[in-house]
Amino acid sequence: MTNNGSEISTTIWDAIVIGGGPAGAAAAITLARNSRSVLLLEKRIKAGFTLGESLPPAAIGVVEHFLGSVEKDIGVGITKTIGITKTKGNVSCWQHAAPQISDFFFTPKGFGLCIDRTNFDQALRDVALKCGVSVLYGAQLTGCRRSENYQRWDVEVSSKSSKQTYHAKYLLDCSGRRSVVARALGIERQCHDNLFAYAQRFVSASGEDSGLDKDAYTRIEASPEGWWYSNRLPLANTSKSTERLVVLHTDKDSSAAQQAATPSGFLKLIAQSPHISSYLNKFAYTPIGKIKGAAAGSERLVQFCGEGWLAVGDAAQAYDPLSSQGIYKALNSASSAGQMVNYALAKSEQSPSSENDDQFFLKRYAHEQEQLWADYVQQHKYYYASQPRWLDQPFWNQRGSSTDVGSESQLVRGVL
Ligand SMILES: Cc1cc2nc3c(=O)[nH]c(=O)nc-3n(C[C@H](O)[C@H](O)[C@H](O)COP(=O)(O)OP(=O)(O)OC[C@H]3O[C@@H](n4cnc5c(N)ncnc54)[C@H](O)[C@@H]3O)c2cc1C
Repeated sequence: MTNNGSEISTTIWDAIVIGGGPAGAAAAITLARNSRSVLLLEKRIKAGFTLGESLPPAAIGVVEHFLGSVEKDIGVGITKTIGITKTKGNVSCWQHAAPQISDFFFTPKGFGLCIDRTNFDQALRDVALKCGVSVLYGAQLTGCRRSENYQRWDVEVSSKSSKQTYHAKYLLDCSGRRSVVARALGIERQCHDNLFAYAQRFVSASGEDSGLDKDAYTRIEASPEGWWYSNRLPLANTSKSTERLVVLHTDKDSSAAQQAATPSGFLKLIAQSPHISSYLNKFAYTPIGKIKGAAAGSERLVQFCGEGWLAVGDAAQAYDPLSSQGIYKALNSASSAGQMVNYALAKSEQSPSSENDDQFFLKRYAHEQEQLWADYVQQHKYYYASQPRWLDQPFWNQRGSSTDVGSESQLVRGVL
């Protein structure tokens, strides 16, 4: 116990992972599967509703790597307990007002996934726990510093009842867009736009003329003030009702953003988007719960890792939801970061006296992250520029002109 009342633990963990979202849980699992000692800190005691539920077919392999087979268990096993449904593809009103279908049937897997996000994240943390990770809920990183003499981190953690200092050889910043470790180290976070998401859940009861909503497509629609998507949520479907999520993406400082933040404004805006609103009307959907707002712009750290630390998932780089790549990228980067830390630890165990053992692995990780960002930026530009309507509107005007892309491109949320 120190004079300011905080407790000091003497254990030195191989890694402390900050953040129990998909990136944090997956990084912890990867390290624990390599017999590394891992402490996972999650500031929330209980997870609430989280946005982000579509996974493209390409993501299924990495989901199965961490959670087990989804295909053989569709309808039972993990898919039922977590809440996972197969999706058929995207229906998008992007280049034209008329809907275009992009079918997952033509991919090797043949389907994508729609997940119950709260349960999905919890399932990943449960796997981490089973692999031997120590998981602390309600534990928030409040500070960290490098103790050069001991080549380790001292990490200050606050919970409701105590303040603790923990020690680790590596820190993995998986704290999402807050990137708490990187910020504590003074690493700049660059925001490339001001995109903000406003999400509203809708419920439809059975007994309507058209029956229950059985839609298995993600619906995307461009509008003058931004763009919308809607998914039928997996767990809320019963024999009596279905739930749908409808999300508007617009600039945070726009008048549409102010409007979308209020229940009546949100309904007025969606009424002007004919494709999704006709779907809501067809099944007599009504709003349920509060409108949830979330930052959704393209952001990255100027530096993805450094001596003894790595940023992973949204903490390293966060994407526009048009990509539908956030969770896929979080799981992949977590797997890579976990392996790099494991190799670096193994190298320092083999030759304890040599300095900067981790440089090779950190450079490799940084290179992967740079490559990911370069690909993302190119595709982001392409897809925004392929929407030729409303170029006179500030939202679209800022995001590119249609002159530098082919005349016929098909929007695939999950390919961007
Ligand atoms: C509107 C919207 C729609 C989206 N749709 C999709 C989609 O359809 N498909 C898709 O793949 N992605 C989607 N995404 C993106 C996706 O949700 C993110 O990419 C994903 O959550 C990133 O995972 P992560 O683990 O890196 O970060 P997060 O999920 O943000 O997890 C970070 C965790 O760190 C914890 N934390 C923060 N600070 C601290 C601290 N100081 N101490 C301890 N813990 C801390 C948080 O509580 C949180 O649990 C969407 C995002 C938005 C905004």
